[in-house]
Amino acid sequence: MNIPDSSFPRVIIIGGGFAGVRLAKTLGNKDAQVVLLDKHNYHTFQPLLYQVSSSGLEPDSIAYPLRKILKKHKNSFFRLAEVKQINAEKNEVETSIGKLNYDYLVIATGTKTNFFGNTEVKANSMPMKNVPQALNIRSLILQNFEKAAIADTKEEQQAYLNFVIVGAGPTGVELSGAIAELKNHILPSEYHDLDSNDMKIHLLEGADRVLPPMSEHASKKAEEFLKDLGVQVHCNTLVEHYDGKTVTTNSDLELQSETLIWAAGVTGAPIEGLKAEALLEKVNRYKVNKFNQVEGYDNIFAIGDIALMETENYPKGHPQVAQPAIQQGKLLGKNLLKLVNNQLMEPFKYNDKGSMATIGRNKAVVDLKHYKFSGAFAWFVWMFVHLMSLVGFRNRVVTFFNWTYNYINFDKAARLIIRPFKK
Ligand SMILES: Cc1cc2nc3c(=O)[nH]c(=O)nc-3n(C[C@H](O)[C@H](O)[C@H](O)COP(=O)(O)OP(=O)(O)OC[C@H]3O[C@@H](n4cnc5c(N)ncnc54)[C@H](O)[C@@H]3O)c2cc1C
Repeated sequence: MNIPDSSFPRVIIIGGGFAGVRLAKTLGNKDAQVVLLDKHNYHTFQPLLYQVSSSGLEPDSIAYPLRKILKKHKNSFFRLAEVKQINAEKNEVETSIGKLNYDYLVIATGTKTNFFGNTEVKANSMPMKNVPQALNIRSLILQNFEKAAIADTKEEQQAYLNFVIVGAGPTGVELSGAIAELKNHILPSEYHDLDSNDMKIHLLEGADRVLPPMSEHASKKAEEFLKDLGVQVHCNTLVEHYDGKTVTTNSDLELQSETLIWAAGVTGAPIEGLKAEALLEKVNRYKVNKFNQVEGYDNIFAIGDIALMETENYPKGHPQVAQPAIQQGKLLGKNLLKLVNNQLMEPFKYNDKGSMATIGRNKAVVDLKHYKFSGAFAWFVWMFVHLMSLVGFRNRVVTFFNWTYNYINFDKAARLIIRPFKK
């Protein structure tokens, strides 16, 4: 893999997500050789994927080249590679481009979409976990509008205009709101051959309220906002079948739809090769101690969504969101440098900064530790936090410009079918 020998210990990081990137940055130009491996050559800001799906942002606003992140670190290397296997007894990883030895290995592979074993839904629905999938959704939505405009029958047209989103966590709620804005602002002005009232957005949730991980206040307000935008919310509803045309559920609800977007859950993305005790199979997350060391190993660590650290406050592990990943990446960087210098490592303590979700313009909900609020102010807070969290100055400027333009013009300018989606 053409990685030079070094007098420093080699740290291989698998995954350039929130956790892996923060770790690589912390170790940059310090007493370690860093090799970052990812199957994509860019970091993805997953919280804004839904804006790519709904034509609000171009993908290059939310993705950032990993090599650019490392460019000032002379001790750091990036390789575009998928890791297939870990040979822990040899301190070696096997990848799509060859094998490489490590002194320390950090697994930061995040999660993949969880279809809960429903192979029919998996085959016919649209997941939204990475940029290509978000672009597929963008194309499909726009293709549906075009097909609806030339449909032979009302039933056929309705199936193209029925959008079903499964899972009312932040992703499902945000995407439903964004698609509703297409219905409310783009259809009436540009699709004169369609009646925008015919476009229906159904949000299905298995729990008894939307945004189940957030407060009751946030759920209530979010549901109100969704209804204001014309989204039909169905709680206590589980999808049973979807053959690409008909959605059936555990209730009487049955929908004819060409589009089912699956935002109902994730499961860890582990790699073959570690001892059975290292992995909690039910959730596919590596069991780690308070230093993020994987059970049964001294020199293998897991951070971010893939790691499950049981603590008193989080007996089932930390929430699979960006902040624990960022904070674990940062601390592990410091701890690896301590290990290298024979010092004691510091245990991880999660600093929960709160959670938020946006539903549409001037409509967001924010849960802080001692304060919960919603509406226009919450929306500005949401925008500010997301803007500042984006990687790269250019991405922040472009996104800010897009959001301002869209706010003034009620527009979503990225409505382009660049690569048609084929079912
Ligand atoms: C649609 C969506 C919306 C979200 N919205 C929010 C939000 O609003 N707020 C929030 O806090 N969190 C949100 N999250 C969750 C948040 O994105 C994750 O918690 C966070 O990305 C976890 O970071 P990570 O570094 O553990 O993994 P990730 O960011 O998922 O990164 C994992 C990396 O590993 C790479 N990889 C995986 N397997 C391999 C392999 N075998 N070989 C090489 N590379 C590999 C992947 O390509 C990826 O780059 C959202 C997630 C999604 C999917």
